[in-house]
Amino acid sequence: MERAHRSYDTVMGKKAVALLSGGLDSALACALALRLGFEVVGVNLATGFCVGQGRCDTVLALTQRLGVPLRLLDVGEEFLTVVRAPKFGYGSAMNPCLDCRVFMVREAGKVMEREGADFVITGEVLGQRPMSQHRRALDLVAAESGLGDRLVRPLSGRLLPATFPERMGWVRREDWLDIQGRSRKRQLALASQWGLTEFVQPSGGCCLLLTRPYAVRLRDAFTTRGADALGRDDFALLRFGRHFRLSPTVKVVVGRDEGENAVLAGFAPGRWVLSFPDVPGPVALVEGEPAACDLELAARLAARYSDARPGEPVTVRVRYGNNVQELTVLPLPSDDPQLARWRLGE
Ligand code: SF4
Repeated sequence: MERAHRSYDTVMGKKAVALLSGGLDSALACALALRLGFEVVGVNLATGFCVGQGRCDTVLALTQRLGVPLRLLDVGEEFLTVVRAPKFGYGSAMNPCLDCRVFMVREAGKVMEREGADFVITGEVLGQRPMSQHRRALDLVAAESGLGDRLVRPLSGRLLPATFPERMGWVRREDWLDIQGRSRKRQLALASQWGLTEFVQPSGGCCLLLTRPYAVRLRDAFTTRGADALGRDDFALLRFGRHFRLSPTVKVVVGRDEGENAVLAGFAPGRWVLSFPDVPGPVALVEGEPAACDLELAARLAARYSDARPGEPVTVRVRYGNNVQELTVLPLPSDDPQLARWRLGE
């Protein structure tokens, strides 16, 4: 990364930890710190709620291009405490954005300590996001994370109070940028000017907690089972399949294709697994405390999505651990109005 035109003696040996999400803004913040002559260590936190698989690859490609080391950390278990009970509440879906920012910055602060770095940088932009990037929210994240002025937002730094590197005289005010608001024009122009191509397109929808189907399923799970009763695999299962709430104590998850069927089979422990020995059909899971009549209803529901002929009986294999039984049921008609009533998140 080419350096900006200024004296670098003041920043020699000074180190920043850059919180990298795979998005454009954090990539630019990292690139700017490098251009100013700081040593940078990248950190990416995997929470388990990212949409898409490519973000880690993108962060990896970015840090390789910039020539900075990357720390990839799995914080999935710890992050669940944020999702279960956010101090500052949820946004429009089940996104605890303020608590999430505090958590991320706090984790980056731990990396800063371990790496012997001097401050943390993020790609936050003043006024870009309604819940987590207005001025009061930025101040709150700095305070709640415990980082205070060791938290630096290079893209909006000129518009914000002086932070540690500025107070120490390592940088001048005008070294930071003065980007604010929702437009990405300046960021895209800078990316092109600095030759940065490795970032996830700023299209939103990168977080499961922001998506309606996931939020509906999560709210249902919190209501019926209680947030503290949900383990990491429960949160993960909410991603896959069609979900149907038959009663407060019984839920059915039906795979939508072969890939999902294979994934659902992996969630078998502690659940009833339904499959079709005689016709092509989905794998389905039953959660909760189903009575015999609930299992039969679940089998009829799953059969609706099999290749069984409408109105003709079909065999459904029901397995729980080592116990296996077979039920012969009539598939529910595809226009059964209960289907829409039971469905979660579609
Ligand atoms: S959208 Fe998701 S990842 Fe982004 S700040 Fe909100 S909760 Fe965190």
